[in-house]
Amino acid sequence: MSQMGFYFDQTRCTGCHTCRVACKDWHDLQSEGVNWMQIETIEKGTFPHLFLAFMATPCYQCETPACMAACPSEAISKRVSDGIVVVDPDACLGREKCEKTPCLKACRSRVPQFGPEENAKMQKCDFCLERLDQGKQPICVEACPMFALEIDTLTALQKKYGSSQEAAGFRHPVKLKPAVVFTPKPENYS
Ligand code: SF4
Ligand code: SF4
Repeated sequence: MSQMGFYFDQTRCTGCHTCRVACKDWHDLQSEGVNWMQIETIEKGTFPHLFLAFMATPCYQCETPACMAACPSEAISKRVSDGIVVVDPDACLGREKCEKTPCLKACRSRVPQFGPEENAKMQKCDFCLERLDQGKQPICVEACPMFALEIDTLTALQKKYGSSQEAAGFRHPVKLKPAVVFTPKPENYS
C-alpha cells in the first residue's frame, strides 16, 4: 500500500480560506458548520513582537485512525490501496442515534463533521479520492493561490520536504501516525 499524505507549507499560507471554500463548493457541502478543510489562525505575542500563522487541516488519513477505533458501528475504514480513511454513511448511526459521536471526540483535529440536519451522518475530507482516481489533484491543492498545499504518497512528500510533523497550531497526536509533512513557520519568521 502506498499511503497518501498531505503537505502544508505554513510559510506560504496567508489564511485566505480559498482552499476551504473551494472544497465546500466542489463537494457541495452545507454552508452551515461543515468544513472538510479547516483553517485556523494562530496569533502569539504582542506588538511589535507578533507571531501570526495559519494551520490548514483536512484529514491526516492516520495510519492508526482513532476515529475508526472509536466508531461503534464500524462505519469508518481505511482503504487498502492508498490508506485514505473513508466513512460509509449507511453504516454511520448519525449524530443523535450515536449520541456521543465518539469519532469526533477521538479526533484531536476535529476532522469528522456533521451537518445541521436531523441525525446527520458523519462526513469528512477524503483527499478528493474521485479526483485522485482520475489522476487529478484534490481541489484544495489546485485552488490554493500560494501553492501551500500538496497531496501525494507520504514517501514522495518526505523525499521532497523532509518529515517534520511540528508546526504552529498542530495538535494531532503523532502516535496515530498522521500522514502529514510540514514546512513550519518559525516563530522568528519575518
Ligand atoms: S483533499 Fe479534497 S476533500 Fe480534502 S480538504 Fe482538500 S478539497 Fe476537501
Ligand atoms: S488557499 Fe492556500 S493560502 Fe489560502 S488558506 Fe488555503 S492554504 Fe492558505
